[in-house]
Amino acid sequence: MMLVLVARGACAAEVVPSVHSPTADTTTQSWLDKRMCVWQARLKLESWAIRVVVCDSVDLRPNTLGNIHWDAENKTAIIRLLNSSTAAMERTLVHELVHLELAALPKTDGTRMDEEKAVSHMADALLALDPQSEPRVTSSGLLRNPQ
Ligand SMILES: [Zn+2]
Repeated sequence: MMLVLVARGACAAEVVPSVHSPTADTTTQSWLDKRMCVWQARLKLESWAIRVVVCDSVDLRPNTLGNIHWDAENKTAIIRLLNSSTAAMERTLVHELVHLELAALPKTDGTRMDEEKAVSHMADALLALDPQSEPRVTSSGLLRNPQ
């Protein structure tokens, strides 16, 4: 069962009601909504209406931390994040937003793995530059230096 909350705080992007599972507390959801606004603005994705859903592992494919589905015509998207640490959820959030940034590019089954690798590298690079982020382990296993 999902609950619906209204996103709070100043956000240049369209404010979209966020959805979270009962296992995500309101503090986590509020923090996630704020980080969504920050990253959405940084990636110039303000014209998109994006909802974030914190979910349990049963709602995702095995061995995944999240996913994104978008409707390019209506410029709407929904990002699902596995309920985990805030650092892990933010990393997945940025990863999925980079996928959205590339949404207009042509894709084939043959380019899927290359895109996945490039998206992971770009997301890690963006997070490494973020003054708000905490030290974290990147997908390459390296601990980012704290700012
Ligand atoms: Zn991906």
